[in-house]
Formats: sequence, C-alpha cells, structure tokens
Amino acid sequence: MMRKYIFVFGALIGVLNLPAQVNDSVMIKKIADDIMLNGKAYDNLYYLCKKIGARLSGSANAQKAVEATARMLKEAGADTVYLQPCMVPHWIRGAKETGYVQSANGKKYNLKLCALGNSVGTGAQGIAAPLVQVQSFDELDRLGAAGVKGKIVFFNMPMNPTYFETFRAYGESGRSRVFGPAKAAQYGAVAVMVRSLASNVDDYPHTGVTVYTDTFSKIPAVAISTNNAEWISSQLNKKIAFTAYLQTNCAMLPDVLSYNVVGEIRGSQLPHAYITVGGHLDSWDLGEGAHDDGAGCVQSIEVIRAIKASGLVPRHTIRAVMFMNEENGGRGGDKYLELALAGKEKHVFAIESDEGGFTPRGFTITASDSQVARLQQYTSLLSNYGTSFIKKGGSGADINELDKAGAVLAGFSPDPQRYFDVHHAAADVFEAVSKRELQLGAVNMTALIYLVDKYGL
Ligand SMILES: [Zn+2]
Repeated sequence: MMRKYIFVFGALIGVLNLPAQVNDSVMIKKIADDIMLNGKAYDNLYYLCKKIGARLSGSANAQKAVEATARMLKEAGADTVYLQPCMVPHWIRGAKETGYVQSANGKKYNLKLCALGNSVGTGAQGIAAPLVQVQSFDELDRLGAAGVKGKIVFFNMPMNPTYFETFRAYGESGRSRVFGPAKAAQYGAVAVMVRSLASNVDDYPHTGVTVYTDTFSKIPAVAISTNNAEWISSQLNKKIAFTAYLQTNCAMLPDVLSYNVVGEIRGSQLPHAYITVGGHLDSWDLGEGAHDDGAGCVQSIEVIRAIKASGLVPRHTIRAVMFMNEENGGRGGDKYLELALAGKEKHVFAIESDEGGFTPRGFTITASDSQVARLQQYTSLLSNYGTSFIKKGGSGADINELDKAGAVLAGFSPDPQRYFDVHHAAADVFEAVSKRELQLGAVNMTALIYLVDKYGL
C-alpha cells in the first residue's frame, strides 16, 4: 500500500513538473553520497583529537590546531585560507587538583574534582573550611553572610532530568557554575564546589567557565563528580557535617595572540555576501575536545570539501570558520563580528555546529517568522538525512551577534541526549564520536547551505 502511494506521488511530481525540487533532491543526494563515501571529517577529527589533543586557548596545542585546520581547509579545496589574529585569555590548570571532605570523626573521603575554567588557585597549602550545601541561588541568598562567611559553598543543582532538551537543563543548572562562585564570594565564602553539569550520575568531574565579578573577591572554584555530589548531599541531609579541603594550582596568565582560522570559497555572483559555517577550535583540557567542538570544526571544513567535490559553484562566498576561545572568553567570535562590521560585510546566513557530533535532528533558527517559514520549506528535502525540524531557536555562541551584520542565524541540532555525558570532561574523546553520525551532520549542514545559497533568504 505504502509502496503504491509513493509510486503515485513520484509520478505526480513528474506531472506537476517541479524541476527545482527534483534537481535539489538529486543534488543533495550527490552531496550526501560524497560525504558518506569520501568524507574527511572523521580523519580530520582523529588528527585534532589524537595527534594534537586538548586545545585550551593560549596553549601550544591550540596553536597546533590553528596550523592543522588551516592545512585541512586548503586540502578541502578552499580558494583562500587565512588567519584572523585575536588576543585570548591564557588560563592554565597546573598540576592536578586534590580534595576531600572530612567528617567529624576524622574520616576523609577523596573527591573526583577539577578546577573550573578561569578560576584562581588555592595556593600550595590549599583551603579547608566547613562545607555548606545550597540547592538554589534563593537558598544562598537566604543563608546570606551569616550562613556562608568563611565556608566552602557546595552548589548542588542537578540538571533537570524531566526536560527532553538537555541544553535547557544545562542552561538552568549551569548558573551554579558560571555565577555561583561570584555570588558565594559576595557573602564571604572562601571557596566553591559545584556539582558537575552532567545528565547522568557518574565519576567524571566536568569543568567549564566560571565568571567572577570585579566587585567581590575571586575565590577558588572546583567541580566534583555527580556521584560525589549525590553522596555528599545524602550525608548532609542526614545531618552529618563535613569540612572540605581543596588544593588547586590553576592560574590566569597574561593574554596571548591566537587566531580564528577561515577558509573561503569565493562566490560566483555575490562574492561580497557571506554565508558562514563554523565551530570552535579551542576546547577544555580534560579530554580531547571531540564532541566539543572538534566535531563542529571538522564538519565545517567538510562543508567546503563537499561543495567543491560536488562541483557546486556557490553564488555567495562560503566561509568555514574555526572560532578561537569560545570556552573561556569568546574572543574569536567577538573578533569575527568586529571585522565583519568594520569591513561593512554583508552577511546572509551563519550556522554553528557546537552541540556535539551526534545524529542530526534539525536546525534552530534566529530570524523573523517569515524567514523561519521560508527555511522550514526545506525540511522535507533534508528529511532523508535526519532533519525532522527547522524551528525558531538559538544559534551558537560564536555567531549569535552576527545578525548585527545582517545574517540569519542557525544552530545545528544533533540528538542532545548523550552530549552532557562527555561535555567538558575526560570522556570527550575521539572514540565517543560515531563516524556516520558525524558525517550525517555535515550532510545536513552542507545541504542547508546549498539551498540557502541557491535561493537566498
Ligand atoms: Zn562548545
């Protein structure tokens, strides 16, 4: 029955004569086949993860990644490859952190912990103080200085498992990591310990940026594993008091020169109108930056390769951009925008892939309702490759102000369920990425760019 229906539908397309749609589906199939058969994204990811490794902003590895992706973009067939210099923060972790909690009877329990990005170190002697748990910022405010001064604050704010969208849970609970240390300092806390932002309970500490304010003192801050957090919380709830000890060796050094890496295919008709596709080249230091965001970088390079290999001649200039310093400063994204505005560049469309290299599900779009509706018409053309929605939503941290240069913004949305198992943790390694899933992401990104380039917005 279904078979017959499809046959009839196929015949109808012929009768109604819809050459554009048919040609587009043929072209997208050609792009997809080329990526699945000849794609280089997985090999390039291997290089970034295994030959280079973690790529903290300002590190020697970040510089190696700049040079490697410039070479990859040339090999992909970009007409022009260049670097955009930008100064970046240079935070270092130093020697591995240690810490424990100790109960009144003297028993010590070692913690699986890591310093938060951009945090200050404790000094060699470490910090020991009574531990106080808070489960919301309201609770911290209620405790105030009377309950917090001289103590180590333990933010136990689990990601909400009832949300299908893990990024929504991350956004809510992530406030504990990003703003918790500064807020606790406001009440005189001496250090902060946050529950890792992970969807599941396991033994990995997950790092990530914390943001201090100039108003209050900068206090050391670490993340502990979700297993540790669950256990400590259960003990505290039984009225067992703990002293915590933390020793971290991180430091913020002076800014250093780094780069965004840009590879372009020059537009045949509108060379001064730009379509940008990108990911961020820097990563946290505990893993290999595979899903976050080696995947987005190699997928963006793959867009360039696939356009060239498929014989497409884009109307607009297509730029693949490896943004530097998304994780702990966003300087690369800022620089790209600054140069776009200074050069009065006309930006048409920008996509970022920074939600992992998992199975493609769709795209989120920041644009007017009519522009979103226009893009939504492409859903059926992409549905064979995994896209089931194109809907209003966010884009990516490196491009989310490019609307100031005229761009419609898009975020590539892969399946979000396993991302926070690995995000900012030692588990974010090459082996955690599936070749097929990574390639399929590049297929959908290239196909959407092909359509936007052809029909405009
Ligand atoms: Zn990222």
